[in-house]
Amino acid sequence: MARIQIPRGTQDILPGTVEQWQYIEAKAREHFRRFNYQEIRTPLFEYTELFQRGVGETTDIVEKEMYSVKNPRSEDQLTLRPENTAGVVRSYVENKMYGSPNQPTKLYYIGPMFRHERPQAGRLRQFTQIGAETLGSSDPSIDAEMIAMVFRFYEEMGLKGLRVDMNSVGTREDRERHRTHLLAFLNDIRHELCEDCQSRIDRNPLRVLDCKVPKDQELTKNAPSLLEHLSEESAAHFASVQKYLTALGIPFVVDPRLVRGLDYYTLTAFEIKMAEIGAVETLCGGGRYNGLVAELGGDDMPGIGFAFGVERLMLALQKQGIELPVKTGIDCYIVVQTPEAKEVAFTLVDQLRRAGVAAEMDYLDRKMKAQLKAADRLTAQYTVIIGESELANNTVVVKEMATGEQKEIAAAELVNVLRK
Ligand code: ATP
Ligand code: MG
Repeated sequence: MARIQIPRGTQDILPGTVEQWQYIEAKAREHFRRFNYQEIRTPLFEYTELFQRGVGETTDIVEKEMYSVKNPRSEDQLTLRPENTAGVVRSYVENKMYGSPNQPTKLYYIGPMFRHERPQAGRLRQFTQIGAETLGSSDPSIDAEMIAMVFRFYEEMGLKGLRVDMNSVGTREDRERHRTHLLAFLNDIRHELCEDCQSRIDRNPLRVLDCKVPKDQELTKNAPSLLEHLSEESAAHFASVQKYLTALGIPFVVDPRLVRGLDYYTLTAFEIKMAEIGAVETLCGGGRYNGLVAELGGDDMPGIGFAFGVERLMLALQKQGIELPVKTGIDCYIVVQTPEAKEVAFTLVDQLRRAGVAAEMDYLDRKMKAQLKAADRLTAQYTVIIGESELANNTVVVKEMATGEQKEIAAAELVNVLRK
């Protein structure tokens, strides 16, 4: 029979690598706990309309990257989540979290997202995001805390040379003022821009500034900047975010071209970058979205969030030669000489495991020598040997592999000796 392969743009995370994932996830949970964020888990699929409204009709995600299906036996359209902000905000509104006495609402998530993209290094069709959202405060200290929270996490992972790029995209009103100037500028160079950008001019001109085509970037180098069109209040908010970041010693640069092109994105936008990780350099993206909760049917509540890809984080770690201190191997392997000894071993591993010891034995009827090799391969800290004489004396030989030190003890004492 022909073999069936894994779908393009997905990956199996196998033992040997999965420990790194577990390490990162555990570190992230601990990190978020310190910042008083609580985990939220939303479904892997939502009604398609949530993303149409919550991510935006004119985004790459909604235009070409969503995996959608019809609900069997009904007309409902469902979509595998391409990101988790929309789901979190839907849940915030639906569960009236704004009514909880603990405000602002601070949430984080860890899980798979799905986008139909052209797969390459750091760009998959199923990938894992770790992200956070704060709802109910538009205070600039929250913006700075969010940026600092990701930055400190990367620091803790050991990454160096990271860059925070940030910008303010203002309020809806700020952008409307800016738009007139931007359109005049873009219409003059319309026919020199890439095809995508020509249609962006009509649908969402701000996104032209986000175009990855080098020629377009050059052409729009002197486009009117949003920063020059911020209201006094928006400018003060941005200045305050920068002041807080400076107080924490977080390095950042203001990039007036960094945009999130949708109406409900407001004020602070940011990205964290590292020079060249595979085909990409952006590790993390985030920003404020004071219009999103209302867009999804809630009251007018401010919000801000970020998300980063775990696969890209792993690439970055690899690139910088950082090895995570993951623990592998087992505590103890019991080697036996005879079938009778195996019966003793079988009850001993049970006792050890109940006492918190990671214990293993042979299930393949291997000779003692092969069992010792197996113990070695599993990097067992202790090897316990039950030979014929030990079996006769109700004893076991315990060998500490690191030191080679070895002693014979009563079998009944084994659990106490190795207990964690
Ligand atoms: P890009 O410009 O790289 O496509 P994006 O703007 O689509 O990024 P966001 O939607 O802001 O990215 O997602 C935040 C983060 O999630 C990215 O910085 C990246 O780390 C990760 N990410 C996004 N799409 C993918 C993907 N297809 N594969 C792996 N990671 C991804
Ligand atoms: Mg993308």
